[in-house]
Amino acid sequence: MLRNDQLAEWDRENFFHASTHLAQHARGETPTRIITTGSGVYIEDRDGTRLLDAFAGLYCVNAGYGQSEITDAIADQARELAYYHAYAGHGTEASVTLAKMVIERAPANMSKVYFGLSGSDANETNIKLVWYYNNILNRPQKKKIISRWRGYHGSGLMTGSLTGLDLFHKKFDLPLSHVLHTQAPYYYHRADLDMDEAAFTAHCAAELEALIAREGADTIAAFIGEPVLGTGGIVPPPAGYWDAIQAVLRKHDILLIVDEVVTGFGRLGTPFGSDYYGLEPDLMTIAKGLTSAYAPLSGSIVSDKMWKVLEQGTDENGAFGHGWTYSAHPIGAAAGVANLNLIDKLGLVANAEKMGAYLLAALQDALGTHPHVGDIRGAGLLCAVEFVEDRDARAFFDPARKINVQVVAQMLQNGIIARAMPQGDIVGFAPPFCLTQSEADKIVAATKDAVQAVLG
Ligand code: PMP
Repeated sequence: MLRNDQLAEWDRENFFHASTHLAQHARGETPTRIITTGSGVYIEDRDGTRLLDAFAGLYCVNAGYGQSEITDAIADQARELAYYHAYAGHGTEASVTLAKMVIERAPANMSKVYFGLSGSDANETNIKLVWYYNNILNRPQKKKIISRWRGYHGSGLMTGSLTGLDLFHKKFDLPLSHVLHTQAPYYYHRADLDMDEAAFTAHCAAELEALIAREGADTIAAFIGEPVLGTGGIVPPPAGYWDAIQAVLRKHDILLIVDEVVTGFGRLGTPFGSDYYGLEPDLMTIAKGLTSAYAPLSGSIVSDKMWKVLEQGTDENGAFGHGWTYSAHPIGAAAGVANLNLIDKLGLVANAEKMGAYLLAALQDALGTHPHVGDIRGAGLLCAVEFVEDRDARAFFDPARKINVQVVAQMLQNGIIARAMPQGDIVGFAPPFCLTQSEADKIVAATKDAVQAVLG
């Protein structure tokens, strides 16, 4: 077996990591952490340290680690047929079965699913579908896409543009043209502290109306949003937000893309975030929970309304000119079928709902009166704690202090992985759905201890 220091050296010399400080890592100032195995909500590293993963990887290992029904399905598929493409009507039993399962679970007006590999590529597909749709309808100028500040929709050129976080734009020459950003539905961050939730919702809808009026509704094709803002801070919207936004979109004939990469397949305790908030999507983006990340697979779910138009659009030689080599990859599809069946069999969505309510209430009990805890919020098994310098004045800490990074580092010392969200002093929680009450208690105790250690 290779020595850890040997691996760390190879890592520094050869491995360009995602979302990592490049210079610090190359200098060896940030650790190389090699994860070896996982079971339930736990993972283990090469030193034998066992960690409770309260963020399910990147909120994706919904079924929990080490589920043999999923790994066996992957192995069986790999042995039988590791690959064939999905072009020109080809498929596998797994991909056709998974498509049927996805459409059965999706809201009633959804018609077809196009499979990709990642949330980012599924959102790229969605934007292309929106443009294709408006070209068929002979509306070539109706192409702009509205996203929200703090939205997260991926790291590609277009999807990185839709993402409303500075870190993903700065030095990359993004956002591209065709992308507009509007107000985040972030009640805790409202400018006017006296504004109540209903008034803030009305303010968000009015901001959207104003943007549409400025740009011209005939230039705007679609609005994209996550049911609950995820990477932008784990922020459930204020009451009535989605009804108000949907009313504006309908009025101006603007399509709604619901990005369900985090919320899809049960994270909020409902099949989709769209069910939780009564959304009527024209397109939905799915990834992560589709396979619980056992294999890369994503999807764009297309509504009946759009499908009827898209069908008319294939050109003279009959092909829809958009495809990935790995669309509907058989191994990902086999993982998806086994994952969704397992989640049903174990009743994991109901458990996510129950444990989500438990975890949120326990965090509120433990930290609700702490002078530096400003907000504790959540929906389903997705929640966050936000820190402030002064709770009454809602004065934020100097970002340079990286309070949330310190809290998360302290928690790690105590064997719990939470996530320091990239913008704001926010610690996020999104454990696997198989979480038990005693594991939730460990998360809460470690959070409380870490907050005390960092903030007193
Ligand atoms: N949409 C949302 C809501 C996401 O949270 C993410 C990933 N965190 C993506 C899209 C992009 O997915 P991927 O990283 O698989 O490209």
